[in-house]
Amino acid sequence: VSTGLILRNVEVGGRPGLDVRLEAGRIAEIGPRLGGVFPDLDGRGGALIPGLADHHIHLLATAARDASIVLDGAAEAHEIAARIVAVAATRPAGGWLRATGYSPGADALLDRDDLDRMSPHHPIRLQDRTGGLWVLNSRALGLIDITDAPQALERGADGQPTGRIWRGDAWLRDRLGPSAPPDLSALGARLAGLGVTALMDASANTDASSAQVLADAVRRGDLPQRLSLMSAAPLTAPPDGAVAIGPVKVLLDERDLIALEDFADRIVDARRQGRGVAVHCVTAAELVLTLAAFETGGAQFGDRIEHGGVIPSWAIGAIRDLGLTVVTQPGFIAERGDRYRAEVDPGDQPDLYRLASLLTAGVPLAASSDAPYGDPDPWAAMRAAVDRRTASGEVIGPFEAVTPRIALSLHLGALDDPGGPARRVAVGAQADLCLLKAPLAEALAVLSAELVAATIVGGRLVYS
Ligand SMILES: [Zn+2]
Repeated sequence: VSTGLILRNVEVGGRPGLDVRLEAGRIAEIGPRLGGVFPDLDGRGGALIPGLADHHIHLLATAARDASIVLDGAAEAHEIAARIVAVAATRPAGGWLRATGYSPGADALLDRDDLDRMSPHHPIRLQDRTGGLWVLNSRALGLIDITDAPQALERGADGQPTGRIWRGDAWLRDRLGPSAPPDLSALGARLAGLGVTALMDASANTDASSAQVLADAVRRGDLPQRLSLMSAAPLTAPPDGAVAIGPVKVLLDERDLIALEDFADRIVDARRQGRGVAVHCVTAAELVLTLAAFETGGAQFGDRIEHGGVIPSWAIGAIRDLGLTVVTQPGFIAERGDRYRAEVDPGDQPDLYRLASLLTAGVPLAASSDAPYGDPDPWAAMRAAVDRRTASGEVIGPFEAVTPRIALSLHLGALDDPGGPARRVAVGAQADLCLLKAPLAEALAVLSAELVAATIVGGRLVYS
């Protein structure tokens, strides 16, 4: 039960000096110097805007990654050791460490002895970036039963395990037993600190048990945001409404595209469940198949193209005519743009992660992070939407740049209508809000998460 709260001296819709009273999870009153005895929060003239939505994120994978030692970019053994030692120092001895993203550099491939030196007090397992190799230290090997070890477990000349396990992912997972669900509270708090009040989990593999983990995290307040879940399989909403059910996720893989009839069947099946369809479309080939499937199976409100990584200009009209919403990741231009410039045919680069051309054509558009594959900071995504700059400062698709106001609005659609009208700060609206430290015009000039002063979900302060 939320009690009332008054936000004093905030800017709403460009009007400064207003008070906003929240009651029972909604905005009850907006005006200058509202009366009444309520707890209040001094907005100091900052803008009050709708809370931000991340329309495509993978929560459990992001939490797991946050709990892991990330080795991306650490090629040499001493860099890897430094990262492991830094994290090990913060964890109780004996607890498992997990490192991901190992890519062997010029140094020899790591083995158990190397890891024993880097992690003497913790069992550690380290995965290479392809996912095909695990390396364990002696403490870790001592904790798993290797009596029926398959070929996957490499042995040295002395017959002892080297710690390397090749293509033995399933076997190792079996030995480790079910892992405890990752703690989502740190991620929930971090997102609240970024002004995020709504999340669409886009994981295809969400099943009843992972949905339960997520719903429990919402009930406990670990995830203070509103949450909707995609899944490939049927999913039932819990009666208490802790999570909502989103579209059916169709995952495409360009190297192994499903047949058009199978795709159309999945659309029919989604309709039977009363759900929209969200299709992972990174490449042009995936987009071509997706458009054909929607033309065959029929598109309806709520259907989405996820990523829109490559949208050739001819496809824009087809997407609009089908009424599909594109949920893209503007931040990828900043995070991966230099790689795109090196690897994508220059003639195709204008097709990458389009924004302005889709909006101009009337395609509903929304932004998201795709964390853990992208940075969950929506403000970083907004900056990339405005300047279209890669990390090294090159520009990709300059004509796709949008204004800061539009970049913000891409995060303001409702969870079930991501490309629809921006939610508003108005009487009667749900009190899912983000209070900024500055008036909107100033905040838009900076687009920084530093400007988030407070975050409110359902009238309840979840960050300040
Ligand atoms: Zn994704």
